[in-house]
Amino acid sequence: MKVLLATRNAGKLVELRRLSSGAGIEVLGLADVPEFPEAPETGATFAENALAKARDAALATGLPSVADDSGLAVDALNGMPGVLSARWSGKHGDDLANLQLLLGQLGDVPDERRGGAFVCAAALVVPGGSGVDGETVVHGEWRGTIVREPRGSNGFGYDPIFVPEGEKRTSAELSPEEKDAASHRGLAFRALLPYLAELA
Ligand code: IMP
Repeated sequence: MKVLLATRNAGKLVELRRLSSGAGIEVLGLADVPEFPEAPETGATFAENALAKARDAALATGLPSVADDSGLAVDALNGMPGVLSARWSGKHGDDLANLQLLLGQLGDVPDERRGGAFVCAAALVVPGGSGVDGETVVHGEWRGTIVREPRGSNGFGYDPIFVPEGEKRTSAELSPEEKDAASHRGLAFRALLPYLAELA
C-alpha cells in the first residue's frame, strides 16, 4: 500500500520511512506524485493545518495522505510563536531571524519561566468514493527550556535554543537519531503507525 507524506522536507520523509519500515507501506513524498496546488497554512491550530494539507493531498492524488504541522510554543508568550513559528520574524523560513527575534523577546524573562514545547500535529486522511473516507489527527509534544545563547549545528529552526527536559544539550546538539527518539514529530509519527498499519 502506498501512502503519501505531503511534504517537500526530505528529513521528514526519511523519518516516516524509517519508522514505518516493516509496516507494509511505501511512503511517497510530493516529489513522487504529479503536482497539485498547495494552499497556504492559515489555520489557527497545528491540527487544522495538518488536516488541511492531508485533505488536499488525498483529494488531489487519491492516495491515503499524511501531513504534519509543527512549531514552538513558549509559555512566557502564551504559546506563541505556535503556528506562526516558521514566519515569526515576518520572513517565512528565515530560521536565524526567527530565533533572534524570539531571544530578544525573552531577554528579560528569568530562567525559571523559560519553559516551552515543540508541538506537532500529524493527520492521516484516507480518500474514498469522491470524498474522504476517514480522518485521524494525533499530537506529539516535547517539553524543554529556551536558553539564552544558540548552541549546536544539527537540526533546524529553533533547535539551537531548545534544551529538552532531562538534557543539558540543545536539540541542535543531539544526533538525528536521539532527536527522532524523543521529538514532537517522532512521537506524532509513531502515534500514527497503528493507523497506517491498518491500511497495509
Ligand atoms: P513545519 O511544521 O515544517 O512547517 O515547521 C514549522 C516551524 O516550526 C519551522 O520552520 C521551525 O521554525 C519550527 N519547528 C518545527 N519543528 C521544529 C524542530 O524540530 N526543531 C526546530 N524548529 C522546529
